[in-house]
Amino acid sequence: MERVAISQAMQDYLKAIYKLHEQNGQAPTSALAEMLGVAPASVTNMCKKLAELHLVEYEPYQGVRFTPAGQKLALEIIRHHRLIELYLAEALNVPWDRVHEEAERLEHVISEDLEERMAAALGDPQFDPHGAPIPSRSGAISPQSGGRLVDMRPGDRLIVVEVDDDDPELLRYLGSMGLYPGTKVLLLARAPFEGPLTLTIDQTQHNLGYQAAKSILVALQEQ
Ligand SMILES: [Zn+2]
Repeated sequence: MERVAISQAMQDYLKAIYKLHEQNGQAPTSALAEMLGVAPASVTNMCKKLAELHLVEYEPYQGVRFTPAGQKLALEIIRHHRLIELYLAEALNVPWDRVHEEAERLEHVISEDLEERMAAALGDPQFDPHGAPIPSRSGAISPQSGGRLVDMRPGDRLIVVEVDDDDPELLRYLGSMGLYPGTKVLLLARAPFEGPLTLTIDQTQHNLGYQAAKSILVALQEQ
């Protein structure tokens, strides 16, 4: 892909806008402020700048939407991030709870040449260590399949598709139960009112709190 020629802060905004659209189908400025931990006025300023660069469309009191150029740039940064995470995990044995933080910094600075070399060394991979799809060189990304673990029914035989990548403590906790992408899980019970879930993982029964379970995407196992 082409080289990213905007500031790191702008790149982080594009990523946040992408994430919000992926989660909720929209990116209100209030949600952006919360996700980035900045004041609403800063979000307004930055969104105006991004709009001047024709990367987003922005109307006060409405959400922020990507232009095709903005979306392409966001996907390039996400490609960097996810490739770096996988490279660190596979080639350098960095634990899966630490790769995200490293990638947050490195994603802004690696050259296109390094990106290509990492992709080649990893055999043009499709998913990062947390199960998130890696956008292709041309900016295509496959939609994630499956649904949230907390929305599944008792008795469902499931396979972990993806877990949230940004909380190291949570990742260590999930890892301690063997909850990695690709792990098979049987959902035994789900307590009401956002209570804990009971799961069988590798023949062992586990209780998993609702908040932790919310970070896990699963798909039904093929029969
Ligand atoms: Zn990450």
